[in-house]
Amino acid sequence: MFPSFSHHYAALPDRMRAESAPTPVTEPSLIVFNHSLAQALGFDAAAFDPLKAAEVLSGNRLPDDVRPVAAAYAGHQFGNFVAQLGDGRALLLGELPHADGGLREVQLKGAGRTPFSRGGDGRAPIGPVLREYLVSEAMHALGVPTTRALAAVATGESVFRQLPEPGAVLTRVATSHLRVGTFQYFAARGDKEALETLVALAIERHYPDLGELPESERPLALLEAVVGRQAALIAQWKGLGFIHGVMNTDNCALSGETIDYGPCAFMDNFHPATVFSSIDERGRYAWDNQPAIAQWNLARLAETLLPLIDADQERAVEQATRAIEAFSERHEWQWARVLRAKLGLCQTHEPSPGADLALGEALLDAMDQGSADFTLSFRRLALVLHDGEPGEPGEPGEPGEPGEQAEPTQGSGEAALRQGFERSQMLNAWLPRWRERLARESASSAELATRLEAANPAVIPRNHQVERVIRAAIDDDDLAPFEHLLAAVTRPFETPDDDALIAPPARDQRVLRTFCGT
Ligand code: AMP
Ligand code: MG
Repeated sequence: MFPSFSHHYAALPDRMRAESAPTPVTEPSLIVFNHSLAQALGFDAAAFDPLKAAEVLSGNRLPDDVRPVAAAYAGHQFGNFVAQLGDGRALLLGELPHADGGLREVQLKGAGRTPFSRGGDGRAPIGPVLREYLVSEAMHALGVPTTRALAAVATGESVFRQLPEPGAVLTRVATSHLRVGTFQYFAARGDKEALETLVALAIERHYPDLGELPESERPLALLEAVVGRQAALIAQWKGLGFIHGVMNTDNCALSGETIDYGPCAFMDNFHPATVFSSIDERGRYAWDNQPAIAQWNLARLAETLLPLIDADQERAVEQATRAIEAFSERHEWQWARVLRAKLGLCQTHEPSPGADLALGEALLDAMDQGSADFTLSFRRLALVLHDGEPGEPGEPGEPGEPGEQAEPTQGSGEAALRQGFERSQMLNAWLPRWRERLARESASSAELATRLEAANPAVIPRNHQVERVIRAAIDDDDLAPFEHLLAAVTRPFETPDDDALIAPPARDQRVLRTFCGT
């Protein structure tokens, strides 16, 4: 049933990783298994056996060809440098070829202590495991580069945090687990040779085109390429109202994939300074601070690469600085691209993103003023376009009760959008600007509506829903709500039958704090 693993990371020099066996668990049982991802990774579907999968993916009985290792890395946590972090509760089983032609690293997260565990138990509670499974698979379905979830296995053991909680192991799949912190670990030790090895690995795995460059140019080119991917990634996060929550340098991947779903959450009503993580007291990782933090993290990567960029320190600093400064413009361009798509705009009428960016940000300001739901407001833009198209969907106002409509002249789609705003003065001013800009797109209203629905999801894993399904799994041993939510969030652009999954939380349902679960 299991395909055979390769061991590129395990073959790296000893100082870059530690061999470490999983600690067996008492009663492994499969909670969820990602059959479509497994198929892409070459698993034999016909031979699928949930008992065997649970044995292997809990770490109790590894295939003979597996050499588990924990990777060494360092990192800035909330701005403070920690010279040794490393995989304290994750073990890399090896790599598998994916159907797309690339390699994937397969990791067990929560499989017991490793030489990098410090004071930790090496375990993961079921709540964070289910959260990561749901959110990472939702992100993938939303088109965001991300690590994936192959399986979650219950261990049958308790994990002690504030209270005892059931333990679980997540099987995480990534194009690699190289982080900014991996480079920092070796830079802090003056280990230039290891840094060269990491540059070569990152290029081979993630940016193979750069392998064509003369060797001396590759470190700077790698930095520029990572800047480009992170600039795009953060724009995608922002376009979904996603707040990562713990953008430490050890959680910033060279691949440009989203990694480490600790206290992450999607915001409901839009306020740019929103933070969920209970430990992010100063809002370092707030929604609107994410680009600046990504740039800060990339500057830390740049520092590690300086000796490889140029033997002349001054020249190296100059080139690296330029690459890091370019983040701002590259991110802005990506952000404009995201906002354009969310507003249904394809045609670029000007080389710079200026006007469309301003239009998108004006809608965000209106949402902020109106405390409007981020996801729902964007999704309802498509309804506005159905207005005035006879025969198009969009509920007509109640006949005979015109007094109930806020403004009798407006269409029902517009009324639905407005309904989500506590104050709508700014929205009122914005809508004609948007209509005027849409008129310059050569597309029918129906085409525009289709575009909008393909760019703006109906369903995201809302925090209160995620909490609800986790509680059901823990308190009632009931996985059905988890499965139901997973099915909806992995088809995020389709309107689900269950309206509850689309709706923002009622006031008393709001979940405003999240925890990393470490
Ligand atoms: P994270 O907050 O998940 O990015 O983890 C930060 C660091 O703490 C990493 O080195 C993790 O491996 C380590 N860590 C987190 N949770 C545990 C745990 N339960 N046991 C051991 N190490 C852990
Ligand atoms: Mg981490």
